[in-house]
Amino acid sequence: MTEYIVKILESFYVTHDVKCFIVEKPTGYDFIPGQGTEVSINTSEWKNQMRPFTFTSLREQHHLEFIIKIYRDHNGVTNMLGKTNAGAELILHDVFGAIQYKGKGVFIAGGSGITPFISIFRDLYKKKELHGNKLIYSNKTSEDVIMDFELKNMLKEDYVKLYTRQNVIGFVSRRIDRNYLIENIIDFNQHFYVCGTSDFVKSITGYLIDLGVTSNSLVIED
Ligand SMILES: Cc1cc2nc3c(=O)[nH]c(=O)nc-3n(C[C@H](O)[C@H](O)[C@H](O)COP(=O)(O)OP(=O)(O)OC[C@H]3O[C@@H](n4cnc5c(N)ncnc54)[C@H](O)[C@@H]3O)c2cc1C
Repeated sequence: MTEYIVKILESFYVTHDVKCFIVEKPTGYDFIPGQGTEVSINTSEWKNQMRPFTFTSLREQHHLEFIIKIYRDHNGVTNMLGKTNAGAELILHDVFGAIQYKGKGVFIAGGSGITPFISIFRDLYKKKELHGNKLIYSNKTSEDVIMDFELKNMLKEDYVKLYTRQNVIGFVSRRIDRNYLIENIIDFNQHFYVCGTSDFVKSITGYLIDLGVTSNSLVIED
């Protein structure tokens, strides 16, 4: 397995627990929007701890970008990435990933599962081919939404947000379930892209198949 040592050029928080990393791009390194790689932190303690993350930059940019949810509740890689900033080094590996654009459809994301879709949307938007795609984006609260402004700007009325929890009196929790999909999807004969936790992907794809979506039209991580 090839290893690429890259320097972090810039890092900043985009929500209370999601951090963006701009890193060097190795010469000749390329990916399809939606794909990612195994990443580790290049220190003696952490370099063997690899975790998968998705590229969110455009493939033609001269740097790579990752948007990473930091879990501060235990001493894992993302907790350490929360304390890792410009000047430090990461180790990248080969590119992999099954999520890529196959044609117009509905993108359904939970939390940090938005990252492969950010990459795909940025690419389509630049090529003026985004119109006709729709995003349904579920988060716990409005504070957890990643890249809200940019998603709204790119997708306009084809951007729908749902919150499962909200610290507001009178808030009605809305989950993506079978009834939600029946009420909000007009055509089940199109592509459906689903990304989030494994439970999220399992339940949403279960509803979609039940509603007539064929496995060929479903785009999910293997
Ligand atoms: C193909 C792919 C692409 C991905 N792309 C991205 C991306 O672009 N951005 C992104 O943010 N994430 C992405 N992920 C998810 C990301 O890989 C994980 O969030 C990351 O591996 C977590 O690493 P960790 O070492 O911090 O946590 P791990 O130790 O690996 O734990 C992962 C999960 O278990 C929980 N957990 C484990 N142990 C404990 C404990 N002791 N106490 C409390 N909770 C615990 C954590 O809360 C977390 O939900 C991707 C995943 C895959 C499979």
